[in-house]
Amino acid sequence: MNQIAQIIEGNLVGKDDFEVDRLSIDSRTLVLASRTLFFALEGDRHNGHDYIQDLYDKGVRAFVVRKPIVKDHFEDCNFIIVKNTLKALQQLSSYHRKNFSYPVVAITGSNGKTIVKEWLYQILNPYFRIVRSPKSYNSQVGVPMSVWQMEKEDELGIFEAGISQPSEMENLQAIIQPTGGIFTHLGSAHQENFKDSGSLLLEKLKLFKSCDWIVYCSDNALVDQEMVVHYEEDTELLSWSKTKEASLQILSEEHIDRYTQIIALYKGDEKTIRLPFSDAASIENAMHCWLTFLHLGLSDDNIRKGFLDLQAVAMRMELKEGQNNCLLINDFYNSDLGSLSITLDMLNQYAQGRKKTLILSDILQTGLNKEKLYTQIAELIDLNKIEKLVGIGDHISSQSDLFKCESYFYSNTETFLKTIDTKVFKNEIILIRGARNFRFERISSALQYKAHRTILEVNLTAMVHNLNYFRSLLDAKTKLMVMVKAFSYGSGSSEIANLLQYHRVDYLAVAIADEGVELRTEGISTPIVVMNPELHSFETMIDYNLEPEIYSLSVLKNFEAVIKKSGMKNYPIHLKLDTGMYRMGFTDSELDELISYLKDNPHFYIRSVFSHLAGSDEEVHDDYTESQIKKFEIWTNKIRAVFPYQIDRHILNTSGIERFPQAQFEMVRLGIGLYGVSATNQNKLMNVSSLKTTISQIKWVDKGQTVGYSRKGKLNKKSRIGIIPIGYADGFNRKLSNGVGQVLVNGKMAAVVGNICMDMCIIDLTDIEAKEGDTVTIFGDDYSLSQMAEQLGTIPYEILTTVSRRVKRIYFQE
Ligand SMILES: *Cc1c(COP(=O)(O)O)cnc(C)c1O
Repeated sequence: MNQIAQIIEGNLVGKDDFEVDRLSIDSRTLVLASRTLFFALEGDRHNGHDYIQDLYDKGVRAFVVRKPIVKDHFEDCNFIIVKNTLKALQQLSSYHRKNFSYPVVAITGSNGKTIVKEWLYQILNPYFRIVRSPKSYNSQVGVPMSVWQMEKEDELGIFEAGISQPSEMENLQAIIQPTGGIFTHLGSAHQENFKDSGSLLLEKLKLFKSCDWIVYCSDNALVDQEMVVHYEEDTELLSWSKTKEASLQILSEEHIDRYTQIIALYKGDEKTIRLPFSDAASIENAMHCWLTFLHLGLSDDNIRKGFLDLQAVAMRMELKEGQNNCLLINDFYNSDLGSLSITLDMLNQYAQGRKKTLILSDILQTGLNKEKLYTQIAELIDLNKIEKLVGIGDHISSQSDLFKCESYFYSNTETFLKTIDTKVFKNEIILIRGARNFRFERISSALQYKAHRTILEVNLTAMVHNLNYFRSLLDAKTKLMVMVKAFSYGSGSSEIANLLQYHRVDYLAVAIADEGVELRTEGISTPIVVMNPELHSFETMIDYNLEPEIYSLSVLKNFEAVIKKSGMKNYPIHLKLDTGMYRMGFTDSELDELISYLKDNPHFYIRSVFSHLAGSDEEVHDDYTESQIKKFEIWTNKIRAVFPYQIDRHILNTSGIERFPQAQFEMVRLGIGLYGVSATNQNKLMNVSSLKTTISQIKWVDKGQTVGYSRKGKLNKKSRIGIIPIGYADGFNRKLSNGVGQVLVNGKMAAVVGNICMDMCIIDLTDIEAKEGDTVTIFGDDYSLSQMAEQLGTIPYEILTTVSRRVKRIYFQE
């Protein structure tokens, strides 16, 4: 601490030898509190000094502050007092930067900074260990936090710098101390604070003061002129241009479907790249990257490969592991002729000795006649040395003579799936490329490696969509508590909590302390409320910084005893009021006693008061709901009047948020809606969870036979049955036996036959085209959780939370 105090020219009150190695400016995203130095920054809306108690509670003991904080229990804290905490953060970071001598590239400009940074990172990543700005951390605060991440093992730094006020760039220059620079674009963003675009530009150019080289586009005359005036003498100016001579001079730019081929001259050599987009902004960003790569000495091959990988992301191609050591490239979004050669490049790139196979559908709407079209395709196939072709569709089949390699033709996807044995594909790389209406995803799933037969797929993109939908119903300042009790309604614990923490929800709520401990050990630092604090877990809760719901005086007193023993003060608690659920909570008659007990009590700090609605989802109960809200308001006013600090109030659950937004107070509690279920507005939400399995075996059974235990499944006709590996121990409720339950197979509903067993059950496939290995959906996008709940006579909550823990959760983002 002593050394840091000297660097930031502050006054240390505390231990000289206290050690810290992490910086924090946000109390919500804390890791390893005991080694963190917190900078109390002061902004328009937030003042870091307000969070010191909170941070102290979380274990932070080192702070940089503007004014001394005097409180008895802060005795073991170390404060460095400075005039300006932001300045101090910048000084420390700038000092840190000086420890490293590897190259550091700084990027500025009005647009494209983050994209250029991310592309540089993606493409250079295989060759350098890179430290870069997280997200778009490019501000007066973001830059020092980014630069602080530099370590001696890194080999290249890439940082963005953005400004909105005059004279800010000098600060950022002093922190980044770049050795190379990229100027992306001169636009008008933040121009309002500058005299004209000339002075904005001059400010930005200050970033490059120490640079050995600068990449920029010389087609903007103003930029070009100022670069030359300021930097020509000591700096290598690397320009690119579409119109004139430059370090990298573009000779031609050709748009072919959705990609762009660019030929340019660099040091006398003609070079070509292909980009997966055709819009001017992306091309401009790519040019900055290209010139940077050339300057850094990346080979042409590696540059091409790098842009190719960007393509995979841009074109939504996926790489998947197939059965029998096959590798699958799924490409269902692009079906035109032009982009075929791009995908074939990709195939070559990843082939690495595997046999190359192409599964291709008819290509529609090209305007070319059939023969010409398929002649071109056959040429491409030859050229790329594709060894095996599976053509699907009437057009391609009719031109089968054109193809010289090993080839097979089918008139549609169904016939192909029915006829083939997936085992014939072995050690191959298979490009699966079809027009949308051929639905090639079915082929991909047939060929895909299947490690877990019964899985719960959790769509994180859908979850974020739902989160944002509920946020859109709320005022911007209303806080959000998300219920992650019961293993996040069955969908997982740390995975979900991490996502929610990333999206900055204010609180997480669990049912019991153990669930909270699990989240803390997984590194979740968002505040956590425990709804059912059990007596035996009080100490654990304190150890793991979990905040209890207090619903009775006896719980309060028991908790107080443990707090006293631990020597803590001001422990955050949440008071539960019972306004009509008649479950847990303080009632009207207990309020006075509660208030007088808590008043002037040094052990507690009331974070929030809340209550729960008994029927917010149903119109028939609306009067009752209103009366609960009314009571809540009166009772909480009474409590809040007594305490000198802010106490948040919350009463709305999911359907409350949708139906009574006027009662959002300072916070709401989101539950089932996040997981995709709404009583009011189902069409606004996306399905999150899908429970899926695969058919293990199929067989014919004669009329009159019985299937399964207790011989309940009597067959009244000759039937084709399928066995699926999911039973009541997986959460497939036994009450769904004997035709009550249905599952989805290849777009059709199949009834459950006989009694559901512990680990498997039997379904009727007599009228459904299906084969062993096909996917079975228990619930998901096309057969909803709510439909299944209705079938079973329960609510979606129960079904979600009873999917057993042994069913593997698979998380994906779209
Ligand atoms: C579970 C729970 C919620 C969330 O309810 P949903 O209907 O799932 O939104 C809110 N508050 C409390 C106290 C809960 O226990």
